[in-house]
Formats: sequence, C-alpha cells, structure tokens
Amino acid sequence: MSKGSIMITNGQLVTPFQVTEGTLVIEEGIITYVGPFDGAPRGVWPAWDAQGAYVTPGLIDIHVHGGGGGDAMDGAVTALEHMGRTFARFGTTGFLPSTVTASHQEILKAVGSAKQAAEQGTGGAQVLGVHLEGPYINTLKKGAQNPAHVRPPSLGELEEIWQKIGPLLRLVTLAPEIEGAPAAIRQLRSWGVTVSIGHSDASYDEAMTAHLWGASHICHTFNGMRGLHQREPGVVGAALSCEGFSAELICDGIHVHPAAMQLLLRAKGPDKIVLVTDTMRAMGLPEGQYQLGGLEIEVVDGAARLSTGELAGSTLSMGQAVKNAMGMLGASLSEAIRMASFNPAQVINMSHRKGSLTVGKDGDVAIFDKNLETLRTIVAGEVVYSRE
Ligand SMILES: [Zn+2]
Repeated sequence: MSKGSIMITNGQLVTPFQVTEGTLVIEEGIITYVGPFDGAPRGVWPAWDAQGAYVTPGLIDIHVHGGGGGDAMDGAVTALEHMGRTFARFGTTGFLPSTVTASHQEILKAVGSAKQAAEQGTGGAQVLGVHLEGPYINTLKKGAQNPAHVRPPSLGELEEIWQKIGPLLRLVTLAPEIEGAPAAIRQLRSWGVTVSIGHSDASYDEAMTAHLWGASHICHTFNGMRGLHQREPGVVGAALSCEGFSAELICDGIHVHPAAMQLLLRAKGPDKIVLVTDTMRAMGLPEGQYQLGGLEIEVVDGAARLSTGELAGSTLSMGQAVKNAMGMLGASLSEAIRMASFNPAQVINMSHRKGSLTVGKDGDVAIFDKNLETLRTIVAGEVVYSRE
C-alpha cells in the first residue's frame, strides 16, 4: 500500500480530545505535525487549505458486512475493494470486514480474502483485520444469522483461522452461554483477540462470568439479546452497568430507539461507546432486493429486512452515524468522532497507531464540511476520496 505526504492548513482539528484550529502534516504515511501553522515543517507537498473544515481522525468501522455491492462473505478481494472505496466516501479509513454464520470453509475463504485485501489495500478504506460474527451464537437470538450453520465453538476451526490470518483476527462475537464457549474465549484471549458478546441469550450472571473469562465488548448493544428486565437484566444490564465492557451501537434511529441510545450514552459515557454500521452489500447502492449470507433481504427506506420483517443489518454510513450521535444522542462533535475513531481503535488494540490525530500515528484522516458531509478521506497520507 502506498504512503503519501500532505499538509492540511486552516482545519478545525478534532483530535478528537479537543477541537483546535491548526495545521496537520503527514509525511510518508505518518502524522508528523499537529499544531499552529507557524511551527509546521516547510516543504511538505501537496498543501491543502481546509478553509475551516473539520479535520478528524479517519473513522473506523469494526462491524460491517458489506457495501458498494460487495460482501465480506463473497470471499473475493474485489468485493472488499468495493467496500473500502464505498466506505471512504463517508469518512471511513479502516474497517473490519465481518463474517456471518456460515460453513467453516466459507468463513476460511472470507478471512483469506480479507488478509489479501489488508496486504494490498482496497484503494479506499483499509482492511484492518477481521471480525467473526458467529457462527458460535445462540439460535434463540440469531437475528439475520443463518441458523443452519450455528454451532458450538470449535477450537480446531479457530486454530485454522488463526493459522491463516494470525493477528488480523481482531474481534470475535459469540454467545458465552453455549457449550464450549469458555475454552474458546480462553484460546482467543491467549492470542490477544478481543471477545465480544452478541447474538446471545445470556443472563446477567452469565455475561458477567464471561467478562471474568476475558470478554470485554458487546456486539450491537440492545440488538440480538434479551431486553432489560428488572430482575434479569441480561447482557444489556451487564453492558450498561459494567465499566469493563465497551458497547457497540448501530446509531441509525431504526435498530435502537433514541431513548435507549441516550440511556446507553448516560450509562457508558462517550469513551465506552463504539459506533458501528453493521451494513450489508446494499449500503451505498439504490434500494431493492439483495442476498445476505444466503438469505433474501429487501432494502426499503434505509432499513434492510428479511421477508419476516426482521432487521438484517443497516445501510448506515459511519459519517451518518456520527451525525446521528450528535442529533439523536446529543453528543458533542468530539465525543461523536471519538466513538467512531479512537474507541473502535482501542477495542481492536490499534489505538497506538490509529484513532486520533497524534504525532507518530498513521496518517488516516477524514475531512468534513460544516454539515458533516465528507470532503476528503485520506489513508496513510494518500487522498482516497475527494468530493470535488
Ligand atoms: Zn453484524
């Protein structure tokens, strides 16, 4: 993947821990300067005047199945290129192609192409690794996952995936209450893989026990789990009350009621929420009929549904999720950007390289106009999307 240099002047830099006017310099793919124009290194080319636009860390989507006509389960690098280029139009610079419940062979093929795309680049947002969503889930909370392939965790399958892609395996969503989950979580944690609870009917106690085993993240909070009950708060109760869990949120106003989203923000604060899109292949395409993991999906009015009417992923973009976090949750710009950049980088153990405008980190940047529409997206110092 190529690495570029660029100087961006007159930006409102959303670092995202403060908002400050200034200049950002990327040299050979790495951020080398953030601050007032006067102190910036000279001679970095091209120089671009942001004219007061917001300059933020590139957005990172750790839960996303498809977009631009491609799907992670296609098992093809071209599908990941379609995804990466489409996501870049909305400020995303990095993503984890997310697999769905499928046969081991299909999952192996999908993770193999993700590795190839991670190495060669997509021409847009970068593949940062892989998120396995299933197949080790609870059929009671399968959502749009194909029940024919739901199964108990297999250490053999995980080992084969690890052999194939190693540390690019960054996140695994499973149901901790099913047989074999403790051994799988232990194995994943020994490799440093983040374990997420999702598509789970776990009780509060089961979720908290899984936290002791090393699970630290909640997959699309409120969706794919039982509701909050006062005597059995379930996974939602664990997510809301335990600081050790970071919590994904599909912030489209369809998957989760704005009041529930606000409750999550109050309970978790802006440092523990991770905005995700959970999009499928239709994201960035016109509405209509599509396939997701072998199931028929119809997209109407921004919602993707099975023939039963059940929600089957969104057509949200990360840029829109940031806007919604401000409009529906009342988050500030820097909080919303944090939930879409620094927090996801932390969840996948990449915050030392990504997620903030800090000297020494990768030159992944999104630039938004005052209406939070994407002007430019920069990956490793290379402009991969430009509105003009
Ligand atoms: Zn998903």
